[in-house]
Amino acid sequence: MIASNEDLKGSLTPSAPLPKPCLSYWQRTTRAYPHLNINKSTPVPSSAKYVIIGSGISGALTAFELTENDVDGKGIVILEAREAASGASSRNAGHVRPDAFRGFKHYSSLHGPDQALKIIANERLVLDRVDQFVKKYNVPCDFQLSSTFDVCMTPEFAAYEAENFEAFKKAGGDVSHVSFTNGEEAKKRTGIKDAIAAYEWPAGSSHPAKLAQWLLNSCIERGVQLFTHCPVSKVSKSETGEKLWDVHTPRGMVTTSTVIHCTNAYASLLLPQLEPHLTPNRAQAHSLIAPPAFSAENALTKTFSLRYSLHHFYSLIQRRGDGTLILGVSRANPTLSTETRRGVVTYDDGKYNDEILEDALKQWKVLFPGEEADVSGTVHGEGLDHAWTGIIGMTGDFVPFVGPVEGMDGQWVCAGFGGHGMARIFTCAPGVVKMVLGKDWSETGLPECFEFTQKRAAKMIAAQESQV
Ligand SMILES: Cc1cc2nc3c(=O)[nH]c(=O)nc-3n(C[C@H](O)[C@H](O)[C@H](O)COP(=O)(O)OP(=O)(O)OC[C@H]3O[C@@H](n4cnc5c(N)ncnc54)[C@H](O)[C@@H]3O)c2cc1C
Repeated sequence: MIASNEDLKGSLTPSAPLPKPCLSYWQRTTRAYPHLNINKSTPVPSSAKYVIIGSGISGALTAFELTENDVDGKGIVILEAREAASGASSRNAGHVRPDAFRGFKHYSSLHGPDQALKIIANERLVLDRVDQFVKKYNVPCDFQLSSTFDVCMTPEFAAYEAENFEAFKKAGGDVSHVSFTNGEEAKKRTGIKDAIAAYEWPAGSSHPAKLAQWLLNSCIERGVQLFTHCPVSKVSKSETGEKLWDVHTPRGMVTTSTVIHCTNAYASLLLPQLEPHLTPNRAQAHSLIAPPAFSAENALTKTFSLRYSLHHFYSLIQRRGDGTLILGVSRANPTLSTETRRGVVTYDDGKYNDEILEDALKQWKVLFPGEEADVSGTVHGEGLDHAWTGIIGMTGDFVPFVGPVEGMDGQWVCAGFGGHGMARIFTCAPGVVKMVLGKDWSETGLPECFEFTQKRAAKMIAAQESQV
């Protein structure tokens, strides 16, 4: 039995992002971004209309959406603990991949079938939103819309997927965009010799750091002030006026009426009420320089999730431009040692784990056998390029924390995106902006279960206790 996130958290206390994180493939290929260290030592202004904490895709898109809704950019300050967009947004595995049905039974058990339908529909909507956004603004973030395979590598997992597919369909979920293949046909279609079954649906991939940086650039052009290397240590009630908040940083204090926490895995440092419900998890990904089986006309046009079980899987995309393969590995893979699995619960993104890297390369050989697919580096320059990690924020009930912070008028949250931020942020951040600007939850179109309420918190605690 795999220990739960909550069990593994032990005495780990909430933290700000740690100094000296490793660099991902995405960061290594964008080191000349001119705003990487913007306002690195400039004091923060004493007041601002809106303060956004965090400059990942959530923070950057929140600022962008505010300016799209006629808020003057000059009234917006973004405070970032490290360099621009240095969190999970610049460290992920590049997939913009909605869940098409797989999580249905799990979400239903936690949030009820209606919310489960909405959670899955929302992810599909995000893919459309990202596609439309990139086209509308011509964003050079290497976004590729294609399709993805969920490949079932064991009969048990094929049965699990089939159950979810049927349950989702029966509950009224739309599966018209999902195609299914089995046996020999699945092997042929996916190219995976051990595939038992495969589902295919629309999905995409992108260069996530380029997307975050484009958003931050656009905000800066519209007058938004980004302060990098400026960790927020506290948000307190201001003595200067009712309904005002003081945001404390090492370079001064900003007083504001509106604070938006886009701090993902780190959100509980400033919002302690989230602490029991948010666990940092270190995820790992790898870049590989394509061997012949993935070069030129053999380059992949689809993306993959290769799944042995719910907690044991590998994600794979291939970038169109330079052909780099990005291989992500599941965190709670039961075949890994207990020590490695325990090590996942951490804020440390300064290094990668050797055992996970070894597992990734070993599995590659199983999934893609043969000399032409070899990534062991027999040809100098081919094969493993880089390994990196990033911290994702796992919530106790697998959906993000979005909306007003109860009892703290003027504070908002958009955090806790787990391994699915790219499939969620593009509706959540615009949703938060709508509410900040006075609209109701119903106008956001978001699943109601994303809101962080006392009721939801109590439910998460009860679920945790029932597992003890
Ligand atoms: C290895 C890996 C693979 C992944 N693969 C995928 C994938 O393929 N598809 C997918 O959808 N998702 C994936 N994810 C998850 C995805 O990257 C995240 O869900 C998403 O990037 C979250 O965006 P965000 O802006 O909310 O958070 P982040 O990008 O983490 O941004 C939060 C920001 O807040 C800053 N911050 C935090 N605390 C403070 C503070 N106190 N003061 C100032 N600043 C602060 C941080 O430095 C950070 O820049 C992956 C993540 C990792 C690490």
